[in-house]
Amino acid sequence: MRLDVVTIFPEYLDPLRHALLGKAIEQGILTVGVHDLRGWATDVHKSVDDSPYGGGPGMVMKPEVWGPALDDVAAGTTEGQVLESSLPHLDKPRHDDVEGVTARAYDAGEDSDLPLLIVPTPAGKPFTQADAQAWSNEEHIVFACGRYEGIDQRVVDDAAQRYRVREVSIGDYVLIGGEVAVLVIAEAIVRLIPGVLGNRRSHEEDSFSDGLLEGPSYTKPRVWRGLEVPPVLFSGNHALVDRWRRDQALLRTQAVRPELLNHVALTPQDQAVLDSGR
Ligand code: SAM
Repeated sequence: MRLDVVTIFPEYLDPLRHALLGKAIEQGILTVGVHDLRGWATDVHKSVDDSPYGGGPGMVMKPEVWGPALDDVAAGTTEGQVLESSLPHLDKPRHDDVEGVTARAYDAGEDSDLPLLIVPTPAGKPFTQADAQAWSNEEHIVFACGRYEGIDQRVVDDAAQRYRVREVSIGDYVLIGGEVAVLVIAEAIVRLIPGVLGNRRSHEEDSFSDGLLEGPSYTKPRVWRGLEVPPVLFSGNHALVDRWRRDQALLRTQAVRPELLNHVALTPQDQAVLDSGR
C-alpha cells in the first residue's frame, strides 16, 4: 500500500515511521510519502489560505493551491518526502508472528482504478472499523489535511474526477487540523493489512470486529494488590473461556455503548446474559 499525505505540517506525520507502521515500511508492505502543500503555493509568501466568501471568522484553504497538489499526487508526478522506518525491526520477530495471514475479498466499488482520497473533516461521515477493514485492501490512499476553517469545497468536488473521495470524521469534536485525524485513520487501516499484525486473531477479536466492545484482559500475576484474575481463565476449558469472554463483551457493550447491540445477532443465551446484567 502507498499512503500520500498532503499537509502544511509535514513533521506532524513523523509518528507514521514508528512501531508497527515502521515495521510495515521496512518490510516493503507500506510506503508513505509526505507532501508540503506550500510547495504548490505560487505567491511570494507561500500562502495557502484566504478570507471566506460571505464573511465570518477564520480563513479557508485556497483551491488554486490544493487543486494542483492533488492533481500531481494522483498522477504520481511527485514523490514527496518518503518516510523511513524509525527502527530496525526485521530481526525481531513478534511473539505472535506465527499464524498465517490471508487476503480478504474486497470490492473497491465504482472507478476502483482511481486512488482513494480521504478528506478528514468534522462534517464527514463517521470513520468506523468497517471502513478501516475495507480500506486496508486499497493500493493507494491520499490524505488531504485541512487547517483553519477547512478546504474550499470545490477542491473536494473537483477531486472526484481523479479520486474516489471520502470525507470522514474521527469523532464529534473539532481538532485544529487534519494531521492527527490522518494518524488515527492511517494506523487503524495499516494494522489490518495482511502481514502487518502477525497474528490475524489479534484484530479479529478486537472491539467492533463482531459488533461488540472487547471485554477485560489479564496477565500475570494471578493476584495483584489483592485483585484476582477471574478463575475461569485458568480452567483450561476453551469453550468456557470463549463463553465468558462473549458474556463480558456483551455486558460491557450494554453498559458503555448499548446502541451497538441493535446491530448484533444475539442468541437466546446472549439475551439471557444481557437480561441478567440489567
Ligand atoms: N470549520 C470546520 C467545521 O466546523 O466543520 C472545522 C475546521 S477544523 C478547525 C480544521 C481541520 O481539522 C479540518 O479541516 C479537518 O481537517 C480537521 N478536523 C477537525 N476536527 C476533525 C474531526 N473530528 N475529524 C476529522 N478531521 C477533523
